[in-house]
Amino acid sequence: MSGTPVTLNMSAPTRGARGKPPRHFVDLTPEQRVEAVTALGEKPFRAKQLATHYFTHLTSDPAEMTDLPKASRDTLAAELFPPLLTAARTLQADGGTTVKTLWHLFDGAKVESVLMRYPNRSTLCVSSQAGCGMACPFCATGQLGLTRNLSTAEIVEQVRAAARSLADGEIPGGPTRLSNLVFMGMGEPLANYKAVMETVRRLVAPAPDGLGMSARNITVSTVGLVPAIEKLTNEGIPVTLAVSMHAPDDELRDTLVPVNTRWSVDQTLDAAYRYFQVTGRRVSIEYALIRDMNDHAWRADMLGEKLNARGKGWVHCNPIPLNPTPGSIWTASDPAVEAEFVARLRAHGIPTTIRDTRGSDIDGACGQLAADEEG
Ligand code: SF4
Repeated sequence: MSGTPVTLNMSAPTRGARGKPPRHFVDLTPEQRVEAVTALGEKPFRAKQLATHYFTHLTSDPAEMTDLPKASRDTLAAELFPPLLTAARTLQADGGTTVKTLWHLFDGAKVESVLMRYPNRSTLCVSSQAGCGMACPFCATGQLGLTRNLSTAEIVEQVRAAARSLADGEIPGGPTRLSNLVFMGMGEPLANYKAVMETVRRLVAPAPDGLGMSARNITVSTVGLVPAIEKLTNEGIPVTLAVSMHAPDDELRDTLVPVNTRWSVDQTLDAAYRYFQVTGRRVSIEYALIRDMNDHAWRADMLGEKLNARGKGWVHCNPIPLNPTPGSIWTASDPAVEAEFVARLRAHGIPTTIRDTRGSDIDGACGQLAADEEG
């Protein structure tokens, strides 16, 4: 989907061997980039030139790096920009303003990203892991299990591809910038904490060392890994935290979000509230509405009460109609039930917006393309 060809690694195995991706420029700190280029016999300032090409011009293609001598750029690109992602399938919806890409990684692992252009912003949903180990029973990705964590560069490459595609005017509406990023693709972002935080640092770093995005426009979601939420609280990077609750009571949440057996609803909400207290950032509460499972009006009341018990004005609720996985018993709530659920939350004074389900007509739930391929 990118104007910069997402380079094909013809020798990559399609299945099997899972391993560590090759070293990539983006995995390195600015200091390490200087060390890497000098180790290749180049002048230190080449590191800044490469950073500008990657983060400002959004390219890793040596043919586009015309301010570098030909021999240097071929060596540098071969050593520091190994191909990490191959676009295996691209699906479009909403008149081409929603683009879902299935990526094959260097070792044959598969992930997805979804780019959604709106009139006033462009949002990319990225994957942070291949598969997911959290085993939520209603989720296509959860059924795959965890294949492996993605590296920082594998996550940032999803972002670069999307940003380049927007900059090149490939998405209807004219050239534009990528403004928002959500870690809501495959995987539990906080289970791959280090790479996700390194990714965030690359995204918010000013040019030429990063994309210069606003941390406020980056959303990190979690099912509630409490120690990791606490760590994030103390990072000093004011990203938006989104907590996938899906149930306000432990009895049901133990089933819908199995990690709840480790950290309860109350522990998760306490950690989320603390995030708000320390960062001043309003927390998003995500709630997949699943027919006859968690969509009862009394559960909306219970959620509203538990949120209000901690404080006022610290959350925003995003119920989302479940994207059904084919052949599964899990399906979206009836629209009237959904409306009642939202009304109950609002009656408790909780700002509530039904999350838009863009892209749901292109192979349904996130993880489904990859699940189909694996399957
Ligand atoms: S809902 Fe999220 S955390 Fe749960 S299995 Fe799916 S991807 Fe993992």
